[in-house]
Amino acid sequence: MRMRSLVVGLLATGLALTACGKEVAPSGPSTTAAAATGVTVTGSPTFDRMTKAGKITIGVKEDQPGLGFRDPTTNQFSGFDIEIARLVAAKLGFDAGKINYKVVQSAGREQAIINGDVDIYVGTYTINDKRKQQVSFAGPYFIAGQSLLVRKDDSSITGKDTLKGKKVCSVTGSTPIGRIRDQQLTEPSNIVEFQGYSQCVDKLVAKEVDAVTTDDAILKGYAAQQNDLLKVVGEPFSKEPYGIGLAKDDKALRDKINDILQGALDDGTWQSTYDSTLGKSGSTATKPTLDRY
Ligand code: GLU
Repeated sequence: MRMRSLVVGLLATGLALTACGKEVAPSGPSTTAAAATGVTVTGSPTFDRMTKAGKITIGVKEDQPGLGFRDPTTNQFSGFDIEIARLVAAKLGFDAGKINYKVVQSAGREQAIINGDVDIYVGTYTINDKRKQQVSFAGPYFIAGQSLLVRKDDSSITGKDTLKGKKVCSVTGSTPIGRIRDQQLTEPSNIVEFQGYSQCVDKLVAKEVDAVTTDDAILKGYAAQQNDLLKVVGEPFSKEPYGIGLAKDDKALRDKINDILQGALDDGTWQSTYDSTLGKSGSTATKPTLDRY
């Protein structure tokens, strides 16, 4: 009797092992995902959607040199955010030719993710609690800080406490414009607002505003482009941890992207990506620690 139950037990274990070894894919949409890309993210509705579409739609910026920038002549995207986006896409099974870039300005990011207009968003997108009520974030993959861009010949603005009476430009729906307002760093009537930072920079060059405020990483890119005209001044006065935005309920995709980012941080890819993009300006960056909430 005992022998018999042992044999039955072994048989049962053997069967279970066979089943495990084969990694039988669960039924449902994720099976299609595995077949099409060779990668599975079980339980991710976003991943299922992109697999069905045969492409990944990534929300990006197009006017932030060094981060997310589209060359007007070649139409090619470049920058640190773009490279991070490409890396994540590749590890999800979508090579460069299967990426559909969609430009979404700061104010439209949450809604673009909620509507499913983009599968993920990679564009200087600060992780914060307010945004977390609407979307989820993988990351952070970079930590920036709010700073100021002024004309090179202006010595009257040296930091955030020298902005009173000055016209300060920033972008609708961004954390920096909120901070300028909340901390009353200049008068409400002196706050000038656009959809994109390059519009602010144009106004700065045209002397219609006195400063542009947003993340130092963004401002350094503009300063590098117009080195003879513009400079970044003062110490950064906030912490802006950049995350990859995705649908709020898609924990499976968030975990998967965090694994991808951790791999890139560990194997040197993050560092070489930084060095070949943002790091070219000479500034160093500390590796971020992922926030696995
Ligand atoms: N990181 C800030 C934010 O997410 C400013 C940059 C931007 O507008 O993308 O609001």
